[in-house]
Amino acid sequence: MAMREVRTRFAPSPTGYMHIGNLRTALYTYLIAKHEGGKFILRIEDTDQERYVEGAVDVIYRTLKMTGLTHDEGPDIGGPVGPYIQSERKGMYLDYARELAEKGEAYYVFNDKEDVVAKICEEEKKPYKFDAKYHTLSKEEVEEKLATGVEYVIRQKNPSEGETVFEDEIYGTISVENAELEDMILIKSDGLPTYNFANVVDDHLMGITHVVRGNEYLSSAPKYNRLYDALGWSVPTYVHCPPIMKDAHNKLSKRNGDASFEDLLAKGYLKDAVVNFIALLGWSSGTEQEIFSLEELIEKFDYRHINKSPAIFDDVKLKWMNGEYIKKLPQEEFHKMAMPYYEKVFSKQNMELLKLDKISELLQTRVEVLNEVPGFIDFFEALPEYDIDLYTHKKMKTNSENSLVTLEKALPVLEGLQDWTFDAIHDATFALIKEMEVKNGVVLWPIRTALSGKSFSPGGAFELAEILGKEESLRRIRIGIEKLA
Ligand code: GLU
Repeated sequence: MAMREVRTRFAPSPTGYMHIGNLRTALYTYLIAKHEGGKFILRIEDTDQERYVEGAVDVIYRTLKMTGLTHDEGPDIGGPVGPYIQSERKGMYLDYARELAEKGEAYYVFNDKEDVVAKICEEEKKPYKFDAKYHTLSKEEVEEKLATGVEYVIRQKNPSEGETVFEDEIYGTISVENAELEDMILIKSDGLPTYNFANVVDDHLMGITHVVRGNEYLSSAPKYNRLYDALGWSVPTYVHCPPIMKDAHNKLSKRNGDASFEDLLAKGYLKDAVVNFIALLGWSSGTEQEIFSLEELIEKFDYRHINKSPAIFDDVKLKWMNGEYIKKLPQEEFHKMAMPYYEKVFSKQNMELLKLDKISELLQTRVEVLNEVPGFIDFFEALPEYDIDLYTHKKMKTNSENSLVTLEKALPVLEGLQDWTFDAIHDATFALIKEMEVKNGVVLWPIRTALSGKSFSPGGAFELAEILGKEESLRRIRIGIEKLA
């Protein structure tokens, strides 16, 4: 391993969905490594067996693959510092805990004493600390107890006086009173390390240079630092990321019913748009630019520009951004993505009759999220019940009387068309407008209204007529005439 190679790790616990916060951590972790030409490592943190969710690891792999956050080392592809699944590293932690105990930086607590002291601390609302009365044991006594196989935990031993100072790239220099530092458990009674211990040992053994994670870990960082120092290891660069909020007071979380990455995809957000949006949750390039490909992010991402203030998850902005990504898609690709929605809304017959590719052309510039498609196209399937008030439009200078005149004149003109193309419909209609000596809107608005039965439609009279086909268009115009007469 080259000395100064940047090595970062994404270390999710397999507890279910890919939350937006997790994905942002993965993205920033990836970007920091790639910006420096370094390595991005995937480590699965599954020592908390109670929180383990079946299938959650697959979600992690799938998400990384889909978003293009390709890891260089990980459980599935191996690497020089494996294994990359914490439960498979079980045997690697105890010796370090023992070393700490020997150095006086940790201590054994055997089963009977563990509960007693924990109870006292809870009652007195103070952090768990070494208590000479309960915890003092000679080396021999420890060996004796260990030999009997009685249950124990190993706790870190933090001082009660002074303070611990550490540096975070985002939050700056932070100092904490040692009296506040709990003697956290390093090795649990089942012999497995806690996350708190494993992350330090693994980050060291894996040569991690930059630790990127949510700021909920900020308060634990001084305890980790004391472990690094005690073991004579160098402390990694800490990059703690700001929380993601759904509004000024509430954190974004699955528990509050907020969307996970998978939920967003199911709603019709594009993965690239979501990744772009997430990149800006707490980071900015310092320019006006907001649309970034992953390659551009790699080039521009400087973690020193991560904000420490909370980031707000702005739905409106995400929608806008998604719309921008939809506009940029190749036409056929958008068409393919819209197809399942067409299949849901349209009858088999209409799937054949309607000009679906033309619908896609109209929608691609108008839809921001794919799940809006049905609302744009429902009227193609069936003319909705509508009120003749729709024909009255001030700006178009139309009302129900002159709309009736228009439709009655337009009907025979359109009936007479041999080929039903956009151009033919357009030319014939404009000839009529000229003949009637009226403004365009006087003719176009009533036709559009008769064809859609809605006050708003994607596309105007010609587009709708072309998509619906001759027979259905004429039928709808006749219905309009009936309603108005
Ligand atoms: N397993 C931890 C989590 O999923 C990782 C925290 C860290 O990156 O150190 O929250």
